[in-house]
Amino acid sequence: MSAPITKPDTRTPACPVSYALSTNENPYRPLRSVRRAVRAESGRLNRYPDPSCAELTARLAERFHVPAEHIVVGPGSIGVVQQLLRARASAGEEVVYAWRSFEGYPIITQIAGARSVPVPLAHPEVHDLDAMAGAITNHTRLVFVCNPNNPTGTVLRRTALRRFLDRVPPDVPVVLDEAYREFVRDPDTPDGVELYGDYPNLVVLRTFSKAYGLAGLRVGFAIAHESIAAAMGSYTVPFGVTALAQAAAIASLHAESELLDRVEALVEERRRVLNGLRDIGCPVPGSEANFLWLPLGEQTVEFATACGGEGLIVRPYPGEGVRITIGDPASNDRVLRVAAEYFSSSRP
Ligand SMILES: *Cc1c(COP(=O)(O)O)cnc(C)c1O
Repeated sequence: MSAPITKPDTRTPACPVSYALSTNENPYRPLRSVRRAVRAESGRLNRYPDPSCAELTARLAERFHVPAEHIVVGPGSIGVVQQLLRARASAGEEVVYAWRSFEGYPIITQIAGARSVPVPLAHPEVHDLDAMAGAITNHTRLVFVCNPNNPTGTVLRRTALRRFLDRVPPDVPVVLDEAYREFVRDPDTPDGVELYGDYPNLVVLRTFSKAYGLAGLRVGFAIAHESIAAAMGSYTVPFGVTALAQAAAIASLHAESELLDRVEALVEERRRVLNGLRDIGCPVPGSEANFLWLPLGEQTVEFATACGGEGLIVRPYPGEGVRITIGDPASNDRVLRVAAEYFSSSRP
């Protein structure tokens, strides 16, 4: 893959020559065309943005072949789903999700005043869909399904997910969080946009933060049937998505093939790091996202500290495992080197 990856930003005074592999960011700098769109918009910062995100919504409707009324744009996908929680859940009601999964779920559930019902992952680190269906009660107002799952990178396949959706009462929305959809290469992993036509309660969540590399601008969107989309839309924070974010997202859709080349290069790197880690005896589950999960249990903090000593900022979940974002080749090389040293010395 020829797409060049830029060097790590060594000018940031807080972290000299370190690689941030802890938040699943895209290691590529924004495309020139995207920066140009943002710069052009910056001359109009005295003006409010379009509160309806009309142009971006129209472009997304074209891109995904869905009616514009089915799209809700918001300040990050976490912002969009917060609108849904405000519309749906209030004090004492329940939100079901797998655990461990994305840390945003308990936070926004708590902000809505609702109660979290976390359902432990089944072995090996996948959603336990039977247990999740069993956890749905009359008080359940929302279910999250994270596919691929953050932080484990594992996926639910089409048949299993359909069987689950068939069991969920039709008045309970299921949010299918596909923040990493563009990194999926497994052909049996369903695409939520194809699935939602069959399930009026399915809400597909997508973001410009990861594959499209716009985490700093805060823009994401949901695709859902009109009644749910309209409910979400009525809880929009006025002017919540900046004009810079809208312009950058539109420019990114124009440059999509260039951006997806970068995603392909990251998928290649994911393969290389995964194989490298397995070669040295590290039991890494397959990942369909832009990160890998090292289920190190009690060694988690020790390994994360070893990484930190070599300038690699990774994400430890003490007692469970370490999540490492796939970065540029230099940082990935360093991950492999640190892991090789660590595992050769921690083995008898
Ligand atoms: C990163 C991430 C998000 C957050 O996306 P934003 O659009 O930046 O808010 C949502 N869900 C999952 C699972 C994520 O990992």
